[in-house]
Amino acid sequence: DEVLLSVTMLRPEEKLLLGALRAEGLAARPLLMEDVAAVVAGQGGPPALAVIRNLSHRDAVNVSRRLEYAGVTTLNRSSVIEACNDKGLQSLLFARHGIPHPVTRHAFSYDQVRAAVSELGMPAVVKPVSGSWGRGVTKMANAECVEAWAGGRESADATGKLFPVVVQSYIDKPGHDLRVVVVGRTPVVAIQRVSDDWRTNTHLGAEVRRVEVTAEIDKLCGQVVEALGPGFYGVDLVEDRSTGELLVLEVNANPEFAKSSERHGVDVAGLYAAYVAERVSV
Ligand code: ADP
Ligand code: ZN
Ligand code: MG
Repeated sequence: DEVLLSVTMLRPEEKLLLGALRAEGLAARPLLMEDVAAVVAGQGGPPALAVIRNLSHRDAVNVSRRLEYAGVTTLNRSSVIEACNDKGLQSLLFARHGIPHPVTRHAFSYDQVRAAVSELGMPAVVKPVSGSWGRGVTKMANAECVEAWAGGRESADATGKLFPVVVQSYIDKPGHDLRVVVVGRTPVVAIQRVSDDWRTNTHLGAEVRRVEVTAEIDKLCGQVVEALGPGFYGVDLVEDRSTGELLVLEVNANPEFAKSSERHGVDVAGLYAAYVAERVSV
């Protein structure tokens, strides 16, 4: 069974995945963007499945949609990649499925940002709907921040290219958040990301330590899987210090895991490859 691994480049994660897929007895090979044409033209026969690991959301969507339209099953599905690529869509999905999530407003203009921040109260968080590694995620501590943020852009961004953005209530968390990796339907590892920065992305220097997958974490990940379908996810959770409740912040469809796998001895690539093998054999 041929399994394609759609990549922009082979990061440590993709090297681990290739090895793990092959260890499952699957004929796995990397698929570069320029090779997609041959696959959708049917050359070499249909692959059993394609795992999508492109770096850019745009590439991931473009490749997965073309493969799906050509009849190839992709992991994650293109509709899931699209939802995970948009924090606005995610928050709507969470609301429909009763998944606890910070109060979120959708803004299509600077005035809507100002209005949403006033409505939710300060501090509030403004984020671009697409993006990762904490880029553009901004805390509006007071009215001056809002004007500094909006005023600086409003004159430069005549086309409104920046929109939509989401405006969220700021969750006062206990100095860390949680990243949970889900394989299929199962949360396989949870790590705490501890940081002095209020944004706890590891790319911004957060320290990670492994924590137990509690019943509450398990339940929230179950709700995410109900909403999106089974897949391969990095689920971000934050604890609201005032209530002790965990909220789902976002779901990433292309999580990095190499460093935490090594540090915490959880073979995420192996678990994912086993899940792929199971999917291919049915
Ligand atoms: P990204 O896709 O860039 O990781 P996130 O929405 O996950 O965007 O935000 C990055 C980090 O910022 C989170 O891991 C969290 O630590 C912090 N953060 C984001 N939104 C909120 C919020 N509403 N309240 C408190 N902290 C937040
Ligand atoms: Zn993200
Ligand atoms: Mg995140």
